[in-house]
Amino acid sequence: MSPRPRPGILDVAPYVGGESKAAGVNRVIRLASNENPLGPSPLAVAAYEAEKSQLHRYPDGGARELRQAIAETQSLQTDRIVCGAGSDELIGLLVRAYAGQGDEVLYSEHGFLMYPIAAKTAGATPVAAPEANLTADVDGLLARVTERTRLVFVANPNNPTGSYISEAALRRLHKGLPDGVLLVVDMAYAEYVSAPDYPQVADLVESAGNVVMLRTFSKIHGLAALRLGWAYCPPAVVDVLNRVRGPFNVSQAAQAAGIAAVRDRDHVTSSIAHNSKWLAWFSGEAAKAGIEALPSVGNFVLLRFPGGGAQAEAVLAEMKRRGILLRGMAGYGLPDCLRVTIGTEEELRATAEALAEVMS
Ligand code: PMP
Repeated sequence: MSPRPRPGILDVAPYVGGESKAAGVNRVIRLASNENPLGPSPLAVAAYEAEKSQLHRYPDGGARELRQAIAETQSLQTDRIVCGAGSDELIGLLVRAYAGQGDEVLYSEHGFLMYPIAAKTAGATPVAAPEANLTADVDGLLARVTERTRLVFVANPNNPTGSYISEAALRRLHKGLPDGVLLVVDMAYAEYVSAPDYPQVADLVESAGNVVMLRTFSKIHGLAALRLGWAYCPPAVVDVLNRVRGPFNVSQAAQAAGIAAVRDRDHVTSSIAHNSKWLAWFSGEAAKAGIEALPSVGNFVLLRFPGGGAQAEAVLAEMKRRGILLRGMAGYGLPDCLRVTIGTEEELRATAEALAEVMS
């Protein structure tokens, strides 16, 4: 008898990240992982480099200065912030702390894949609620809440669909949940959204006892390699996360880079401006090539192919052969779609040109 993991673990299909290499191609165009094409702020890189003489020291386990910098720049309360090694770590910690065997973790049909993975890892049951129009559906979610539901995850905007739910919809979802269910609003792409009805959520976190907001430095701040995310929580959830996280879960280099990144508002502003310009341009070019570009408020766009799953798969392979890496969506239940990250102007022009050729 060999050692056996807890029930559920072997049901987990490991998360497969976006591809980063194409055989035989030297310069690949990487549009598969929703990274910031402008890279990080130069000030964040300098802060990271300045840490190199202190690699023998443990980091500040409480990430005090980083939490203060986040709170200061976004008018939040320092003591409600918990930092993690990417928001992925915080998703896993929340699920493990609040759900176990026999419990349910609710998320929306085409929601971010780490939610069902984290649920299974904790031995809990992931429950997917149907969406309307590739958008999280409040009634669909509420209809699936049972006495076993412990957490509800909503990515807003969602990856990979690029859709979002409004302030009114989010409030209605929260109102419909029992107080004992934790509502986790994952706002990895929040900075890119300019819609006036997009909910900021921090005030709901502060007024309710069962809402958590998740944020990341991987997208707008271009620091995906450093693994840095944070949660904005009710005090009781802060206490729980501080008990279950590793004592030094965020490296000092990540903390230093994060502090510089949140203070560099110019870099954030130019990343947003780049994205809105090129998201609109690229969506238009895809449509001209006969591909449906779904409306997106994120730093990526979902393309739906008229020829269905076989065509999407063929285009993915042909683009890879040309050194352009996009993301297949079969794992998200969207086999007829590919997701494209908004890259640099040069990358997107090359991608649009290749797509037009492949589709003609
Ligand atoms: N949430 C969503 C919706 C995401 O798309 C991602 C990144 N793919 C994450 C969380 C995790 O990001 P990170 O762990 O890099 O913070």
